[in-house]
Amino acid sequence: MTDRQQMLQDIARLARLTAAETERGRFTTKVMAAVGSVKREQFVPEGVAIEAYENIPLPIGYEQTISQPYIVALMTDLLDTEADQVCLEVGTGSGYQAAVLSQLVAKVYSIEIIAPLYREASERLRRLHYDNVEVMLGNGYLGYPEAAPFDRIIVTAAAEEVPPALLEQLKPGGRMIIPVGPEYGGQVLYQVDKDDTGMIESSPVLDVRFVPLIQGSDLSM
Ligand code: SAH
Repeated sequence: MTDRQQMLQDIARLARLTAAETERGRFTTKVMAAVGSVKREQFVPEGVAIEAYENIPLPIGYEQTISQPYIVALMTDLLDTEADQVCLEVGTGSGYQAAVLSQLVAKVYSIEIIAPLYREASERLRRLHYDNVEVMLGNGYLGYPEAAPFDRIIVTAAAEEVPPALLEQLKPGGRMIIPVGPEYGGQVLYQVDKDDTGMIESSPVLDVRFVPLIQGSDLSM
């Protein structure tokens, strides 16, 4: 079995173990195929490449992490994407989640606030030919009004509350997956749905741990 196949098995196992909370005992075939198609070793620093297919988050510098593969798969599955959709990701990091999503939707906009991470991820995604991903440098707390509204929004850093701009930039009938809670402990992954009349419904999915969403607009790095 290859390392990537082993990783998919680990994800499937955790999906079963967390089914009581997530109500998703298995992820769709297309999500598993998308996760399985991306070489995670190409998204982590060389020093940790040997651990690339372990089901753990890994450091990517600047106090940031690439999420655990199971969490990437869960969030992607919860998004419930369709092939013609436009998706916004807040928190590009390594670009891994964006690469997974790019297999499932028409266009991914991904915004990163830390300049060196932005540069590395956009260079990496270009080099690996993830051509339907556009990476932007900026404060994703404010969303990306230039390309709004979005069918789907995924936030990969924990916000104290759902950022109002992101709610605004979500299409009617759209869905956002976002961890909400304080920096240390007590974060919950939420599924936020906007119905066709603009009504919002939020449902908690799972206790999680993410790096904090930076709310300021300090782009000096
Ligand atoms: N999705 C990433 C992991 C993200 S870690 C991956 O697949 O590798 C969270 C990322 O969110 C970090 O890179 C961090 O710099 C970024 N971030 C934090 N606050 C942000 C903000 N306000 N706007 C955009 N990106 C932000």
